[in-house]
Amino acid sequence: MRIPLIFIVLLVTASSPAATFSIVHFGTPIQAQPAIEHAAGIWGGILVSDVPIKVSVSWTALGGSSLGVTFPNGRKDFPGAPVDSTWYPTALVNSINQAELNPGEDDINVYLNSSTNWYLGLDGDPPAGQYDLVSVFLHELGHGLGFLGLTKKEGAEGSFGAIQASDIAPLTTTFPWPELDTLPGIFDRFLQAQDLTMLTDVANPSNTLGSLFTSGQLRWNGTNGLIGSGGAVIRIYSPSPYESGSSCVHLNEATYPTGNPNELMTPHVSPGQSNHWPGPIVIGVMRDIGWVVDPNVGLLEHHAPASCGVWPNPVDDQLRISCSTYDKLLITDLSGRSSVHSRNGDSWDVSQLQPGSYFVHGQSGPPLRFIKQ
Ligand SMILES: [Zn+2]
Repeated sequence: MRIPLIFIVLLVTASSPAATFSIVHFGTPIQAQPAIEHAAGIWGGILVSDVPIKVSVSWTALGGSSLGVTFPNGRKDFPGAPVDSTWYPTALVNSINQAELNPGEDDINVYLNSSTNWYLGLDGDPPAGQYDLVSVFLHELGHGLGFLGLTKKEGAEGSFGAIQASDIAPLTTTFPWPELDTLPGIFDRFLQAQDLTMLTDVANPSNTLGSLFTSGQLRWNGTNGLIGSGGAVIRIYSPSPYESGSSCVHLNEATYPTGNPNELMTPHVSPGQSNHWPGPIVIGVMRDIGWVVDPNVGLLEHHAPASCGVWPNPVDDQLRISCSTYDKLLITDLSGRSSVHSRNGDSWDVSQLQPGSYFVHGQSGPPLRFIKQ
């Protein structure tokens, strides 16, 4: 009988990043900046670009319960654009073009709420009540890098490419807000209705589009995203009523709850929780919209059966994994030394691991993240 192994590897930033970020801060406390750089480094180890990605971070009171808001700069119909009449985030534009097409303009503006009770550590182990800044900034950068469309709903009418600068007031962008010409973003071109109609094939603007945005049934129809999901339907957040800035630009909260490897780009995050890896679906989505993903990431992208999970998380000593076919653990430390751990009843003893962030890997499985505390 072939015995599947589970591999646990330390989460380490790639030795030479595939993409680099140039981050300018406006009001960000110096103590918060390492978490922001750390999150950028995680994306920098996944996505490939020859052009540094320029990000401005504004630390400001956002009001309400919002943790962060992100606006990517955009271009359409640039030289080498894969799809015509479609907005692309400039970070991706520059990666495809292999040269900077927006000199002097930021690629991404991120606003972080200065009123939030942030956890500024890098270890993914926020105490109850604090929001993990690495996780939130990783999420916000995901939007800035392209996990974001141009949907809008006014009354019953839904549209692509009708968002105006006044819609985001009182916030502003450091780059000129373009006339979007009722064109969709590249992300929007993968949105699909339950009857498999592509949303960008529906009249724009229209009430039909508006009702699809709130159908609760939107899905992602991209080859690589679906490889990441193992072929399972990828649910896009599409509640009724429409939630501006949240609907149609996140994975569905209920489908990918806390602990799911694909939870990062869901609309809500809880204090005391963390997630430092985008997960196989989101990485597949990035590939679908045109990003080149560092080949070293491949092993971390494999699909996990939906039933797979680890708990408790964070863990002190005994780790449980819900996939019953796993019989052994291979634990690898930073220097490459590894040891095989055998099942102890229905759990694994991880009491000897140093505190930190780890992934569990199956031979055909995806990374399941856990925190050793
Ligand atoms: Zn978001």
